[in-house]
Amino acid sequence: MAEEVVSDTFKLSSSQWRYDIKTLESMDDVETDPGPLAQVILSARQRSDSCLRSQRVDVYLICLQDHAILKTLEDRPELGLFPLVLYVMVHELIHIERFSRFKQNFQATPEETRSEEARVHRLTRQIVEALPVAGMDAVLGFFACWHGPIDALHAPGTGPP
Ligand SMILES: [Zn+2]
Repeated sequence: MAEEVVSDTFKLSSSQWRYDIKTLESMDDVETDPGPLAQVILSARQRSDSCLRSQRVDVYLICLQDHAILKTLEDRPELGLFPLVLYVMVHELIHIERFSRFKQNFQATPEETRSEEARVHRLTRQIVEALPVAGMDAVLGFFACWHGPIDALHAPGTGPP
């Protein structure tokens, strides 16, 4: 569902996605992050099959920190598993869309990273708040601190259509 709504928003076809998903039981130490609920890792850089020129194709890995997700659900009983994971997956797919279209660089400064994080949260909100998913209001409330006004670092014209 997350892939479908992000594809619709950014006019992507399903063949353009290059990512895989891991959960805690199959992650190594690098992929396990005690902080966020998920993270995106650049897992491989491949040549495309174009014979005209060498083009790189990046493959991403979404590491769902299921231990952190379950802990959050335990601490915040108003949150539901489905709307929370849907928000997280939409959010991570927006990161991938932005990395793969060079709207954001993996080697960003901490300030740029924070600014990008806020931008991606706002894009996530715009997408998921339109969905008829029970419990999404509580999830949006949980992430509300990320949905504030844009600071001076944000470039114009990078929002969704
Ligand atoms: Zn993020």
